[in-house]
Amino acid sequence: MQKIFWYSLLIFLIVVTITLVVVVDQKLAVSTPTFSEKEEKLSLLHHIDQKIDYFHYDYLDRYLAYQEKNPNLSDIDIITRVNLGLDQPFYENTKQSNHLNQTSILVNKYLFLPEDYIPNNLVEISKDFSNSTKMLVYEAKENFEKMCQKAKDEGYTIRAISAYRSYDYQKQLYDNYVSKDGVDLADTYSARPGYSEHQTGLVVDVDNGNQNYEQFEQTKEFSWMQENAHLYGFILRYPKEKEEITGYQYESWHYRYVGKEIASILSNNHLTLDEYFVRYIEK
Ligand SMILES: [Zn+2]
Repeated sequence: MQKIFWYSLLIFLIVVTITLVVVVDQKLAVSTPTFSEKEEKLSLLHHIDQKIDYFHYDYLDRYLAYQEKNPNLSDIDIITRVNLGLDQPFYENTKQSNHLNQTSILVNKYLFLPEDYIPNNLVEISKDFSNSTKMLVYEAKENFEKMCQKAKDEGYTIRAISAYRSYDYQKQLYDNYVSKDGVDLADTYSARPGYSEHQTGLVVDVDNGNQNYEQFEQTKEFSWMQENAHLYGFILRYPKEKEEITGYQYESWHYRYVGKEIASILSNNHLTLDEYFVRYIEK
């Protein structure tokens, strides 16, 4: 009799233990799917996930959608472009730039300047190096003049034909282009008011005093700028083959002051300011 009692107790305990294990396991199973879903999504992105410090988990669905549409792009390019907002049409999901009065400020088709924004320390460029009254932020102006002087010493002529532009002036320009060419074409070569980096006071369009600025690429001054502009903190802002990233046609005459350090990095690595900004400045 006693044996039967002990056997029954043992079987009872085994059944209870198994039941408990099953229940606990089911509970755990209920809480894991989100984790495995995340893992599964991350695995679709190969090995890039948290190893890239500008990877935003919040953008995961956008990265995946962009990767599907652009299977030939590297993971780094997918993350860079989505972070810039390039998976959305230009001028959609825009926000105000929060780097006002800094030489590393990014202004593009997603980041705009306030209508009443006028940069600090705007000063006039020497008439020796401009075709009429043109203004730049002090630091950019100083370096622009040094660069033009050095070019002059070596037998080249570089002068400013456009520099700081107010919101209202950009509006006039843009509206004229739109009435001539329509919005779609105008958007490829002119910024909408508030979206022009000329409003930062850090940008200068140049020519050689002889040929139309649109032919600047064919001048010896352009080759000189290719070699030297970064030494004075300037970069060619809208290079060839980067149109998809900058949103602008190639412009051989449009130079942006970013300071010597960033200018060297960009020129040595063939990076646009847009790419650099989302990878190193606003991660
Ligand atoms: Zn320009």
